[in-house]
Amino acid sequence: MTKILLHICCGPCATHPATVLSQEYEVIGYFYNPNIWPYEEWLKRYGAFKKFCEESEAISDYFPKIKSPLTPLLQRGEEEISPWGGGEGGWEEEYKIEHQKYLESVKGYEKEPEGGKRCPLCFTLRLDKAAKFASDNLIDIFATTLTIGRNKRPEIINSIGQISADKYGIKFYEANWKKQDGALKGKHISDEHELYRQHYCGCEFSL
Ligand code: SF4
Repeated sequence: MTKILLHICCGPCATHPATVLSQEYEVIGYFYNPNIWPYEEWLKRYGAFKKFCEESEAISDYFPKIKSPLTPLLQRGEEEISPWGGGEGGWEEEYKIEHQKYLESVKGYEKEPEGGKRCPLCFTLRLDKAAKFASDNLIDIFATTLTIGRNKRPEIINSIGQISADKYGIKFYEANWKKQDGALKGKHISDEHELYRQHYCGCEFSL
């Protein structure tokens, strides 16, 4: 089966997309969301991502704990390494560095409302990283769970995903996960796994 890298923003949002994609692909979960603030919230969302990846048959593998190593970067085996891919200075230090990158990428747009001009910059940072990770690991198609979000505009996310895919010479799986009751189906699966569900989009400006 062909592999697909699924950029996952949080556990609940992963459930429906992963279930659909697993009918056609071997789904590799990937969590890169430096927009999330504060660190304690990032830990909760990362925990829900990890719980779902461990429990669900829809996810074949996930980074950082890869069950069946394939390529040099993934050959880190069963040992739990930093989800940021580094490992120097501890997770919280890496989080601070990556969150700073997020803050720099949205500089000047802090006062925008959720769904305004700040969000495409946030999507670009995350999807670019996911596309690069896929390309570095010889996975030639990637997708994101982001379009399932209630306030997210799929046409913007899909266009950014395509630009990132083109940049790294891979394909992007275009989707609007809200269609056909995707959010409701996802909620049922999320409830079965008792996944942590957040109450705001992620950054400090969305609180
Ligand atoms: S509101 Fe959400 S999508 Fe927009 S910048 Fe903040 S975290 Fe990113």
